[in-house]
Amino acid sequence: MFLDFFESKGHLCKSSYSLVPHNDNSVLLIPAGMAPLKPYFTGQEIPPRTRMATCQKCIRTGDIENVGKTARHGTFFEMLGNFSFGDYFKKEAIAWSWEFLTEVVGLDPNRLYPSIYEDDDEAFEIWNKQQGIPAERIFRFGKEDNFWEHGAGPCGPCSEIYYDRGEAYGCGKPGCTVGCDCDRYMEIWNNVFTQFDGDGKGNYVELSHKNIDTGMGLERLAVVVQDVDSIFNVDTIRALLDEVCRLAGTTYNADHEKDVSLRLITDHIRSVTFMVSDGIMPSNEGRGYVLRRLLRRAARHGRMLGIESKFLADLSKKVIEVSRDGYPELDEKAEFIYRVINQEEENFNKTIDQGLSILADMEQKLANAGEKTLSGEDAFKLYDTYGFPLDLTKEIMMEKGFDIDEDGFNTAMENQRKMAREARKTTNYMGADVTVYQSIDTSITSKFVGYDKNSCDSKITVLTTDTDVVEALTDGQEGTILTEETPFYATSGGQVADTGVIRNADGGVFEVKDTIKLQGGRIGHVGKVVSGMFYVGDAVTLEINEEQRAATARNHSATHLLQKALRTVLGTHVEQAGSYNDKDRLRFDFTHFSALSAEELKKVEDIVNEEIRAALPVVTKVMSLDEAKKLGAMALFGEKYGDAVRVVSMGDFSTELCGGTHVANTENIGCFKILSETGVAAGVRRIEALTSTGLLAYYAEMEKEFHAAAAAAKSTPANLEARIHQMQEEMKVLQSENEKLKDKLAKGSLGDVMNQVKEIKGVKTLAVKVSDVDMNELRNLGDQLKEKLGEGVIVLASELNGKVNLITMATDGVQKLGAHAGNLIKAIASEVGGGGGGRPGMAQAGGKNPAGIDNALEKAAKVIEEQIH
Ligand code: ATP
Ligand code: MG
Repeated sequence: MFLDFFESKGHLCKSSYSLVPHNDNSVLLIPAGMAPLKPYFTGQEIPPRTRMATCQKCIRTGDIENVGKTARHGTFFEMLGNFSFGDYFKKEAIAWSWEFLTEVVGLDPNRLYPSIYEDDDEAFEIWNKQQGIPAERIFRFGKEDNFWEHGAGPCGPCSEIYYDRGEAYGCGKPGCTVGCDCDRYMEIWNNVFTQFDGDGKGNYVELSHKNIDTGMGLERLAVVVQDVDSIFNVDTIRALLDEVCRLAGTTYNADHEKDVSLRLITDHIRSVTFMVSDGIMPSNEGRGYVLRRLLRRAARHGRMLGIESKFLADLSKKVIEVSRDGYPELDEKAEFIYRVINQEEENFNKTIDQGLSILADMEQKLANAGEKTLSGEDAFKLYDTYGFPLDLTKEIMMEKGFDIDEDGFNTAMENQRKMAREARKTTNYMGADVTVYQSIDTSITSKFVGYDKNSCDSKITVLTTDTDVVEALTDGQEGTILTEETPFYATSGGQVADTGVIRNADGGVFEVKDTIKLQGGRIGHVGKVVSGMFYVGDAVTLEINEEQRAATARNHSATHLLQKALRTVLGTHVEQAGSYNDKDRLRFDFTHFSALSAEELKKVEDIVNEEIRAALPVVTKVMSLDEAKKLGAMALFGEKYGDAVRVVSMGDFSTELCGGTHVANTENIGCFKILSETGVAAGVRRIEALTSTGLLAYYAEMEKEFHAAAAAAKSTPANLEARIHQMQEEMKVLQSENEKLKDKLAKGSLGDVMNQVKEIKGVKTLAVKVSDVDMNELRNLGDQLKEKLGEGVIVLASELNGKVNLITMATDGVQKLGAHAGNLIKAIASEVGGGGGGRPGMAQAGGKNPAGIDNALEKAAKVIEEQIH
């Protein structure tokens, strides 16, 4: 009726969007009809029509505490909504909501009460004048109730419509009227007038494109129309509740506590069924955790009602039965939904008894110690080991009058995450959680068919996330797929795993990033669902990345040739100590006691290349270990082999036990080049080498660098060496020119220094300051000045980078008159914050205080005067 009505008002009616938000991280699950339409409200996307209407499935976990306690709240409900994106506004929205409720649904107008935001006179006028509602029937509420705002962004006043269900539903308190928390006046519809853009701090500007966003709970409307006391007595939901009663062998309205459990299960199974139908899987995080919580909560309340066996999948059948008309996806996924629910309930049942008895022990301990709070570690232990969601533990403890240290719980959780993250660094992305594979049914096997096939068709036998064995993997999820047969080679024997894709018939694509060997010879394809969904039992096609496989095989086969070549050149003490082969390179560790000479390396390399050119056929045979030994096959030191072994031989040259994938003929390896030979441990050497494509790529890279180097030297690769010699010559010339220039510069800085020569008691004295000259240069300068001066005393001071260099010189002739360069510097260095000394002819000192240079020079004159007799 709702959708037809709004279609008649020009609206485009769409079926419900998924519960999983797209490109919106602000909510885990869709909580309102407008949520999936956000881009139309903000203008980021153009709506298909400026008027739309939907009946949207919603989940509000924020209401979980109300469920079963109030008449009007569910975690799951359906929201009817009409929307205007910059099209009609208040007048039409109000008129149509009234028309729909009173004329289409036929509610008694005298029982309906609009409420408005206290400052919204425009809405008041419309209700009052346009709709003829008397002023005293229109309630004004504050921001809290009637202003819709979510941080910064579009916001605006609301007008809610309440229905008076009559005294019988009231709390009876004096002053009970519209807006009372009780269930007499029930809010059924909220009209939001998005007219402002708010900055989140209480400042609003009028929007040029005003929007209408409305929401009416279908269940609440049904409560009113069917005149029942709560949403749990609406016919469809009551049918579900009756089913819970039947399974529990109890009746509704007989016992208050049981009723709460009955309502809670009824609500939660609706959420659970719809969530799974939208591809959400139970997990310990995000949406998956919400699902797990709701499901486990329902399961526990089932136990409280005395239900012994699994019952939730049965109940979800009922959900599907009463909701299939509006939501065809429920029918399509029915079998899958039952499987997921069954499995999760089973997991929970397995641990709950144990968990409950441990919790009982914890309770006992608290009671004995007279304490009231369960520690965060204990709550976390229950969560981690027994899968008790925190609020389940909380609920159980609260019933007994205890509370929980939630901060402690969060700390314990964060610690564990950190540990898991750290552990992950050393293993694959599954990290510390590899244990998920231990819960795989041991009767399941995988067959490797990849020796002679690059792709095959098979069936999915197991799916896991990084924490759970699951029935399905959805779009964007990471996990592991196991199949009956696979062409994917799992990392082993030094050969790295294949990567590739797995596809199903519905166009689903799973990207295999790693292939791993699990217990029992099972093979796990680790990766991510790129699109679509994968279910256990799906027929799939597995395709490996052929190029990568071929390149890896070339390197692996070359490793066999290398081992034989090393034994030929170095001796039979050479044993394999480790190996690694991927598409780019190969690495081989072997026992040997000294570094290989350049000659030995060349010999080894030549032999391998000869055997490549010899085009030896590569043949693999499975035989008994004894037979293999008779053939002289090289086995791995200390390795345990089964009775039947795979023997890989390359002509008569090499025979090795090996499970890896190889080229068909050694010729395919192309070429082989050793890059390095190093020691890795006492008596163990390592060779790194390249073949074929890896080698070409390496040379291509070298060539690029070579050309770049030549270009940088403004030369060509062929002339580069000559060019470098030439540049070195040029550099020598430049360096000596530079020395000369520096010299000249230093002299220049002296100015016409000879003018400053003074006579002190008949001795020629030159005491001057120069700038930016280092000690070496200062000495050169002193020597040159000495030549010009003939006999005399020289004092030079220079400031360089904030420090002082000081030098004194006295010629032989003036030394005889008493001059002493060493004593002189000793006497004056303190003026520049330094110290020093030296011989009678020459002395030098450093200092930290350039400001004292002038004083030092002045003092020098006095000291010289004292020295001369
Ligand atoms: P209440 O105060 O009763 O929780 P609300 O103000 O949270 O309601 P809105 O956010 O305005 O509700 O949602 C629009 C409509 O959706 C409501 O008028 C009501 O009919 C319906 N609705 C909201 N929450 C629930 C719920 N938990 N279960 C069922 N219907 C709901
Ligand atoms: Mg609410």
